[in-house]
Amino acid sequence: VTNKKITCLAGGVGAARFLQGLVRVFPEEWITVVVNTGDDIELYDLHISPDIDIVTYTLAGIVDEEKGWGIRNDTFNCFTMLQRYGYETWFNIGDKDLATHLYRTEQLKKGISLSEITAKLARLHALKETILPMTNDEFETRIITDKGEIHFQEYMVKHGMQDNIVSVRFAGAERAKPCQEVINAIAEASGIIVCPSNPIVSIGTILSIKGIRRALKETKANVVAISPIIAGTVVKGPAEKLMRSLGIEVSAFSVADLYEDFLDAFILDNADKEQKERVEALGIKAIVTNTLMKTVEDKMHLAEVALSCL
Ligand code: GDP
Repeated sequence: VTNKKITCLAGGVGAARFLQGLVRVFPEEWITVVVNTGDDIELYDLHISPDIDIVTYTLAGIVDEEKGWGIRNDTFNCFTMLQRYGYETWFNIGDKDLATHLYRTEQLKKGISLSEITAKLARLHALKETILPMTNDEFETRIITDKGEIHFQEYMVKHGMQDNIVSVRFAGAERAKPCQEVINAIAEASGIIVCPSNPIVSIGTILSIKGIRRALKETKANVVAISPIIAGTVVKGPAEKLMRSLGIEVSAFSVADLYEDFLDAFILDNADKEQKERVEALGIKAIVTNTLMKTVEDKMHLAEVALSCL
C-alpha cells in the first residue's frame, strides 16, 4: 500500500511497539496516530500525557525500550530532590522527560491546545507522523475500587494494580469533544488500524468520545484491529484485570466483539487460532498470525499483515 493515509488508534506501550514496525514499512508522513489521553494526570503542577509521550519518544527513537516509557539513559536528579523535599514520588519522571512536561504545561497555561502542543513536540522531535490527542478537553479515567475511586495512574503505578476493581468511570466523557482533526483523520483515511492496546482504558476511552465511534462506523476506510490479548492473557498491563472485573471474557474474541460495530478485520495470535471462527461469525474477517512483537522483524511483519487488510 502506498500513497494512502493511515490512521491508527493508540494507547501507550503496545501501540508504540506496533508503530515501530509500521514506520518501517509505510511512509511516516502518511501516518496519523490518535492517542488516548485518559491516563493524563497533573502532578507537581505539571500536565503529564503518558501515552502521547510514549508514542512520541518511541517514534523519535529515544524511548527507554526496557521500561517502555521515558527516555533512554535519562537521569532522575530532579526526582531525587523532590523526594527529599517530601513530595509523593510514586510517578517516576526523568530529567529529560521533565522538560516535556514543563513545555506542555507552560504552553497549556498560555492557552495553546493540547493538540497544537502535541504537534509542536512532534516537530521538535523531527517526527513526520501526525500525532493527535483524542480530545483537547478534560477527560480522566477513574478506577472504582472496593476502597474508593482513584485516578487510573494511582491504580496502575501507585498501587501497582493491586486494588480490586469494581468498575471504570470516564470522567468528562459526556462533555469531551474529539479534536476536529481526529474526525477528519478517520473520515479521510484510506485505512484505520486499532493498535494492540488496552481495549478498555486505551481504545475504550477513545471510543467513548462523542462522534469517534460513529466516524469509525461511517468511514469508507477498512478498519483492522490487532488483539492485545494472546492466549487468554495480556502481554503486559492491566487489561486482563479490567476485563475480568467488568465481566468481559478475557480473550481475543472479546476484543473483536467490543469493536464489532466498526471492524472489518481482526488479527489474532496463532495461540488463539481456535477463535477464528467465532470472530468470523461476527462478520469480521479474521487473520491468524504471530502477534507477539519481540524483534523488529516481528513488528514489521505485524504491520505488513495489518496493511494487507486495508
Ligand atoms: P499501556 O497503556 O502503556 O499499557 O499501553 P497499551 O494500552 O497500548 O497497551 C497495553 C496492551 O498492549 C496490553 O493489553 C498488552 O497485552 C498489549 N501488548 C503489549 N505488547 C504486545 C505485543 O507484543 N503483541 C500484542 N499483540 N499485544 C501486545
